[in-house]
Amino acid sequence: MSKHVLIVGAGLAGSLLAVYLARAGWTVEVRERRSDPRAAGHVSGRSINLAISARGLKALRRVGLEDAILRDAIRMPGRMIHPPTGALNFQQYSANPAHAIQSVSRSALNLTLILAAAAEKGVTIRFDQRCSEIDAATGTATFIDNRTGESSRAQVDLIVGTDGAYSVLRSAMERNEGFDYQQSWLSHGYKELSIPAVSTGPHAPFAMAPHALHIWPRGGSMMIALPNPDGSFTCTLFWPHTTTASARGFDSIATAPIARQHFEAHYADALPLMPTFDDDFNRNAVGWMVTVRARPWSRGGRVVLLGDAAHAIVPFFGQGANASFEDCEALTDALTACGDDIALALANYELARKRNTDAIAEMALENFIEMRDKTASPLFRWRKRVEHFIHGVAPALFTPRYDMVSFETIPYADALAKSRKQDRVLSIVAVAAAVGVVVALIAIITRFIWWASSC
Ligand SMILES: Cc1cc2nc3c(=O)[nH]c(=O)nc-3n(C[C@H](O)[C@H](O)[C@H](O)COP(=O)(O)OP(=O)(O)OC[C@H]3O[C@@H](n4cnc5c(N)ncnc54)[C@H](O)[C@@H]3O)c2cc1C
Repeated sequence: MSKHVLIVGAGLAGSLLAVYLARAGWTVEVRERRSDPRAAGHVSGRSINLAISARGLKALRRVGLEDAILRDAIRMPGRMIHPPTGALNFQQYSANPAHAIQSVSRSALNLTLILAAAAEKGVTIRFDQRCSEIDAATGTATFIDNRTGESSRAQVDLIVGTDGAYSVLRSAMERNEGFDYQQSWLSHGYKELSIPAVSTGPHAPFAMAPHALHIWPRGGSMMIALPNPDGSFTCTLFWPHTTTASARGFDSIATAPIARQHFEAHYADALPLMPTFDDDFNRNAVGWMVTVRARPWSRGGRVVLLGDAAHAIVPFFGQGANASFEDCEALTDALTACGDDIALALANYELARKRNTDAIAEMALENFIEMRDKTASPLFRWRKRVEHFIHGVAPALFTPRYDMVSFETIPYADALAKSRKQDRVLSIVAVAAAVGVVVALIAIITRFIWWASSC
């Protein structure tokens, strides 16, 4: 008889996991607190688009969903830097121009995954079901129906919490002895704005070059914009919640008129492309970003966390969903390999993933500093060129971190360790080169002085 799994949350991870586990022979029940998006034709929620790269695409490919997702995706082979003054600057992400991250609609991605899950034999999905409590000892979850207020229970072989960064399942596990939990809020928040499609111009229907992730690096803060298939861009401001010495924050730029003034001074090329700026700024709330570190991810061999519920990360490497999709592969593989020993499978899944999700959490925080502080610097551009050159001539010896994270699928922890080692070597080479130049200059000057004095 097939084993019964309950997946709590039909977001990106939960709906893909339903497909994976159904294919692995499980009877799958998914319960989601939101309403059925199939009626509305879209999934509600914030953050309109997101970047999917090699890891996410690999997980989608394994269940035949990659093509459906890529059909409406927009390739972004590099960053377009918008300095405060002066010309735009395009920085290719990889030495290989075929490498690109893909901008996709979050809502369309989630809907495609829900439709794919619903089409699998053995999957049932129930919406408007908010999980309020779990009992790990008996494998029981309690739900409240959002429409009727009625409560119901489900008892299964395995409960998977894919209920996101503010997971109810994780909160329940936090009450247990031996559960380590750390939540670090980023000092910066985010707010979404939009650039609509245009009917004229060199990139129409896009108001700017579509095949790039646009960045306005401004030291302690920044704005980014990702293209949408309808010709619009979704812009995201990443500003401190509270004003600092290096950047003004949402506290001092709280209203549209003040924000408009700030944009005129700091994002002057973007403002004319934003006819709904005032409405967007007033309507869209400031979101918080959090890094969550928790362990163990499972309890009693009956309950396990996956995706943001296990390891929410900040969005600056565009890897949260990609990492969650990798989790779906790892959990399914572990369950398949361990047969009836679910507890062992859950332990093996955590062993395979934890060090990697810890690593991407760290790299995501580091990438924020790179995006907002470094991308505008000529030294940074020069260093990237050197990295691409070395990778081009000795790919087995040197692979830039961005390539390893976004265009390869080597474990995140290995990518972090390898990139740190490469950084040290590059720094030594740079110092050696600088010393060599100084020694050569001294030799030339000494020779010149000797020559001048002997004339
Ligand atoms: C601004 C921003 C930009 C991002 N950009 C990227 C990017 O470019 N690339 C990338 O890979 N990642 C990105 N991410 C991260 C990505 O969104 C997450 O990692 C991903 O959504 C995690 O999927 P999930 O299924 O674990 O959680 P979610 O997608 O949050 O899904 C959780 C689901 O659980 C449901 N739920 C919650 N509580 C309950 C409950 N009590 N009962 C029942 N259901 C419940 C929710 O309604 C939701 O449907 C970004 C995140 C943010 C905030």
